[in-house]
Amino acid sequence: MFIHLLYSLQDTSKKSPMELINAVPPIKVEGRIAACDGRQDKGRETGSLGHPIEYICLDLDQPAVCKYCGLRFVQDHHH
Ligand SMILES: [Zn+2]
Repeated sequence: MFIHLLYSLQDTSKKSPMELINAVPPIKVEGRIAACDGRQDKGRETGSLGHPIEYICLDLDQPAVCKYCGLRFVQDHHH
């Protein structure tokens, strides 16, 4: 019973910021450069006006992260 109680306490909605960021799938971009102005996330109504356009190089294999808003971008290799 005690173990069950501990398990229940862990199963809450408490998430770390990293987990929240990882919950947003990276945005696929055709080409090597992504342009982010902070308004790509149309699924959320943040009321944000975005940020100055940030050009992000996608040459790396891992997702590139916008330094302003934290959105992640990956190069779409489909042709
Ligand atoms: Zn951004």
